[in-house]
Amino acid sequence: MAFRTDEITTFRTVVICDSCKSERELSLGKTPLGFDNRMNGAIHFGYTFLNTGKQFMNYCEKCKPQFTDEQV
Ligand SMILES: [Zn+2]
Repeated sequence: MAFRTDEITTFRTVVICDSCKSERELSLGKTPLGFDNRMNGAIHFGYTFLNTGKQFMNYCEKCKPQFTDEQV
């Protein structure tokens, strides 16, 4: 009789709006989400990216309208 116990590690990646701080889950899996997939996931959920010069910010769909003029 054989037994084996595995510890399963799960990586959860969320995108956080820089304005309202709301979180949206992008991925839940055995490997962390890479940069491209994080960006694509955020875009898929309607997030907008804004380069402030100092920082790269992201905003959820709800917060987007007030930033459309400066949208990258
Ligand atoms: Zn927001």
